[in-house]
Amino acid sequence: MKSVPHNLVSHKPRGARGGLTARSAGTGAKPGTGQLSPKFRFRLPRHFLWVGFTLSLALLVAYIYFCPPTWAVILDGEVIGYVSQVEEVRKALALLAESEASRVGAQVVPKNPPSFVRRRPPQGAMLVTPETMAGVLSEKMEFLAAGYVICVDGQDVVALPSEEDARLVLSSLREQYVQSISRKSQVTVEEVLTKENIEIKEKTVSTRMFRSREDALRILVRGTDKTVTHIVQRGECLWTIAQANHMTVEDLRKANPQVKGDLIYEGDSLSLVVPDPYVTFQSREKVVFAVGIPYATEVSYDESLWPWQERVLVEGKNGQKLISQEVIRENGKEVSRRTVDERILSYPVTRKVVRGSKQVPPMGSGQMVWPVKGRVTSYFGWRWGSFHSGIDIAAPAGTPVLAADNGMVSYRGWNGGYGRLVLIDHGNGTVTAYAHLSGYAVSVGDRVEKGQVIGYVGSSGNSTGPHLHFEVRVNGVAKNPLDYYK
Ligand SMILES: [Zn+2]
Repeated sequence: MKSVPHNLVSHKPRGARGGLTARSAGTGAKPGTGQLSPKFRFRLPRHFLWVGFTLSLALLVAYIYFCPPTWAVILDGEVIGYVSQVEEVRKALALLAESEASRVGAQVVPKNPPSFVRRRPPQGAMLVTPETMAGVLSEKMEFLAAGYVICVDGQDVVALPSEEDARLVLSSLREQYVQSISRKSQVTVEEVLTKENIEIKEKTVSTRMFRSREDALRILVRGTDKTVTHIVQRGECLWTIAQANHMTVEDLRKANPQVKGDLIYEGDSLSLVVPDPYVTFQSREKVVFAVGIPYATEVSYDESLWPWQERVLVEGKNGQKLISQEVIRENGKEVSRRTVDERILSYPVTRKVVRGSKQVPPMGSGQMVWPVKGRVTSYFGWRWGSFHSGIDIAAPAGTPVLAADNGMVSYRGWNGGYGRLVLIDHGNGTVTAYAHLSGYAVSVGDRVEKGQVIGYVGSSGNSTGPHLHFEVRVNGVAKNPLDYYK
């Protein structure tokens, strides 16, 4: 109990000392007031001490009651918790501001600074540690900083700490686009415009808008910095993944331009965020490429040659021309293309050919020539119990065999016992046959003239020695060839 009055007493001299100090300093204190002080001290009645003591006690109790040792932390008009060590929270807050400032690279001020009020926590409310409170504040508090905001059509998209940073982001955005379209050869990008109005504005914004240059670029390109990925599982295809994530296959493809066709493999990582770029680039580029000019063929006719004969006078050669086109793209997708000019690099060389136009005589004349020089060794008709459907003319192997009349070669090839056989159709149902040949001088479809060499005497097929087996058939019926040489 001794200490309490001591407190009270010690209070009084403090006040008196203040008075004395003021007087001794002589600054503005009225001399009258200074004279009153000692009188007051001397005349203070004894029971005043007791009144003072009671008052102080009441004040102490009131102080303890009204000023509890805990603080309510109030943010945006709401109590977010109670702490006992408010200084610790203030320190944490300062650290938070400091780290936010170093993250964005600019000075920051809290947008909604918390306030601390001495208050006893209500029944059941727990005190939280300064660390917990700092965590809650870092989540709920917003800081403001002056920066350079990239605005797309008036909408603030991202903020950077310096104007230079913002310009660098915009220039790399453009650069990235230009590279994506000029990867193809012979493309000159002449102009790149953006459809949207892009500005850099200096303003104070929430530090949440501040991004690194890389992130700012990504946001402008993809429309978001959100990433959601899906790892392809066994048995999944684009359709099932799209379906499961409420997307269309087309959107899934847009989000994953790296996917070619329908090929996805187990373990592939697919993005589920469809890009929605803030900026639409419009570019005008000049594309230059060469194309071939096909050569033409000029045909002249020569009456000394058969129609199936052709002679090339000049070989043809394709030319080349250089085409310049102007291509307009929007975000890389071609929207229009027009040819600006075409220049000949080399002219094509016209192919020149001479084709035969010699008139083919009408089909069979009816007057036949002997097909080979030689002696008839076997005649038409029955011999040794079998029917000989032609005549055999003996001649040394290799002797030229001639077409008996004008006509067209209708068969050339091996035919059982006939060996190498040529048939010539003379029209009106008349066909001559030349068998056992050693070689051919004509092809099927060839027009032949009476007396033209068609092959050579041989002994192919069912033959005992070199000779020509010669037949004349009319409507499929064998006739005696000798009847045609009268
Ligand atoms: Zn025969």
